[in-house]
Formats: sequence, C-alpha cells, structure tokens
Amino acid sequence: QRGFDQKIDYVFKVVLIGDSAVGKSQLLSRFTRNEFNIDSKATIGVEFQTKTLLIDHKSVKAQIWDTAGQERGAVGAMLVYDITKRQSFDHVAKWLEELRGHADKNIVIMLVGNKSDLASLRAVPIEDAKEFAQRESLFFMETSALEATNVESAFLTVVTEIYRVIS
Ligand code: GDP
Ligand code: MG
Repeated sequence: QRGFDQKIDYVFKVVLIGDSAVGKSQLLSRFTRNEFNIDSKATIGVEFQTKTLLIDHKSVKAQIWDTAGQERGAVGAMLVYDITKRQSFDHVAKWLEELRGHADKNIVIMLVGNKSDLASLRAVPIEDAKEFAQRESLFFMETSALEATNVESAFLTVVTEIYRVIS
C-alpha cells in the first residue's frame, strides 16, 4: 500500500448482510486487519471499515459496512450464511430480496458460506448453495474467517467485478 497521501481513484460501498452470528464481523476484521476474535460481540451501531486495493493500476477503496439497513447506494454485497446452520441458508432468499429492493440495481453479490473450518458440523451441502447462486446469478465461495480461507479472495472478486462493471 502507498502512503496516506495516496490518490483514491474509486470508492465502492460494499455491505455485509445475513443472519446474526454467521461471521460477518469476523470476515470484515479478517479482511481489513487480518484479525479474528473468538468471542466477538454482536455488532451495535453503524460501523464500516475500509481497505484500499490496487486494481488495474487504480487505487480502489472498499468501504465495507457491517450493519443491516445500510444497503442504500451499495454496489457490492457479501450475503453470508453459516455452513453449520441450515436456517441461516434458508434465510438467504429473504436477505437477497432486501438487497435487491434497496441497493444499486447493478449490485455485485457474493454468496458466502462461512465457517468452512467446521466441516464435521456441515448442515448446508455445497451443491445446494452453488445451485442457488447459479439460479440467482450470484458469485459463490465458502470461507473461513477463523482460518483465513478464501476471505481475501471473496472480497477481491466482488471489488474487481464492481470495477469491471463500472469501468
Ligand atoms: P456476525 O453476527 O454475523 O457479525 O457474526 P460474528 O462475526 O460476530 O461471529 C459469530 C461467532 O461465530 C463468533 O463466536 C465467531 O468467533 C464465530 N465465527 C465467525 N467466523 C467463524 C469461522 O470462520 N469459523 C468458526 N469456527 N467460527 C467463526
Ligand atoms: Mg456482527
């Protein structure tokens, strides 16, 4: 990363959405600070974190919101469920409706099955999620905020795709 005086070419608003306790806050802290907190508290109030990425020689600042109800103006979204909680996957359709109703119409959405490290407790087959993502034209990845698996890749894919759409 360059210094504090760097020029920012783009700012993209990205939202994290999904049931409570699926790991949204931990995905965000893993991506922006490379931190994971085992006893993370429920998120209270309006919070966002930023991370600046270099894409195609442009500096792109991802402004990532970790609070429901911040969808307005978002050009990207991480729709997160917990692979060990079937209910959190069953609620994905409802969250998608919420997103499509309030965010930018060209919003780039990544369906994220988090906690892939808990494979022995899996309650959502990867095929179910893939099928849903394909039907709804979403990107899809399984991640582990705990083990830092695919976290960078999931956010990078979304930001790069937003860049591709608008440039
Ligand atoms: P949020 O309510 O969606 O923001 O969820 P949190 O980020 O607060 O995480 C809820 C709980 O799940 C916390 O106890 C986290 O430590 C745990 N957690 C989050 N991500 C992972 C992960 O990838 N693997 C495992 N095993 N636990 C996780
Ligand atoms: Mg949270």
